[in-house]
Amino acid sequence: MTKKLYYQDAYINSFTTSIKDQPKDENNQWYLILEETAFYPTGGGQPTDLGTLNNRKVINVEEIDGEIRHYIDEPLESLSSEVAGEVDWKRRYDHMQQHSGQHILSAAFEEALQFKTISFHLGKEMLTIDLDVEKLTEEQASEAERLANRVIQESRSIETKWITEAELSQYPMRKQPTVTDDIRLVIIPDFDYNGCGGTHPRSTSEVGAIKILDWEKHKGHIRLQFVCGNRVLMQLHQKNKLLKELTGQLQVPEETMSSVVQRLLEKQKEQEKTIEDMKERLFSYEADELMNEGTRQSDYVLIQKAYQNRPIQELQKLAQHITSEKEDAVVLLVVHNEGKLQLVGAKGTSPTVNLKEAVRNVFPLINGKGGGKESFVQGGGEALMSKEELLQEMVKNV
Ligand SMILES: [Zn+2]
Repeated sequence: MTKKLYYQDAYINSFTTSIKDQPKDENNQWYLILEETAFYPTGGGQPTDLGTLNNRKVINVEEIDGEIRHYIDEPLESLSSEVAGEVDWKRRYDHMQQHSGQHILSAAFEEALQFKTISFHLGKEMLTIDLDVEKLTEEQASEAERLANRVIQESRSIETKWITEAELSQYPMRKQPTVTDDIRLVIIPDFDYNGCGGTHPRSTSEVGAIKILDWEKHKGHIRLQFVCGNRVLMQLHQKNKLLKELTGQLQVPEETMSSVVQRLLEKQKEQEKTIEDMKERLFSYEADELMNEGTRQSDYVLIQKAYQNRPIQELQKLAQHITSEKEDAVVLLVVHNEGKLQLVGAKGTSPTVNLKEAVRNVFPLINGKGGGKESFVQGGGEALMSKEELLQEMVKNV
């Protein structure tokens, strides 16, 4: 068994020790077994420590059957001399703050509201706990957060104690530990008694602060996001930066930003509606103009036009608008869009021409395809001729 320095003192971040072995695991990964270690292995919801052993990078630490494996990026050449370990302290201290903060917040929810924590996750950016309730109000969250921060500000001691299963009944445990021998209790006197194998600071004050960020329903429970310690400052920094950017862009102070954004969104909606209305009116002007340019043929009025860069939907709409107003119209429209030619043909109720038949001969000229019915056709192909020439071909065939 490796001697666990992090249980002797959670603040040890550099140490020298001797090497017991340097084997490879089933995946061909090198690891070191040491006489003693300050590297905390993955466990109990606390992520692994990282750092260095001599000049080798420690990339993962796992405990398997009481033996702690320090996975390294490259094997050591000599195992005879001592090895110097350096734990990435910034990372570890963050884990200590977050992990202990979780103890405090979970205890606060239980103390203030009798809400039990059923699971917990320590992520890279933030932490979550799942509370065994279906609903959480703003006031309840604030109440638990206030209590948790009070416990932090009171600088209460965080103690650890090894006990046996028989001694367990002397402590007001929130949850029965899963291990039965050598139980490690983490105690914040008169507040929290927890079976835990993680690393913790000496005092609640080192957790710094706890801030609840948000919560949501998750599988019938409440999943709550929060941060502790230096992550609170990080969050404040990020959110402040974002707010400053937004207030700068909107040119309003922070306090009025929400109402200003709301007004902006309302205004945008109104403007969109106005633009829609204006487009409709413009459309009917355009249709009227096209109708005036129509030329009388045997039993219909021919309306034709070639456009550059225009959505085919607008041409469809124009053609339909005209034929619904003018029963003797035959409308032929062409558009050139980025190397493609597209066409639309439509007629009112009175002309006898069959448009589907008429344009059948046109599509092969542009390597294109399309179709429709007697009264409405559309399609497209390659720009193998000019848009005007294509229009002429359509007119010829009609
Ligand atoms: Zn713990």
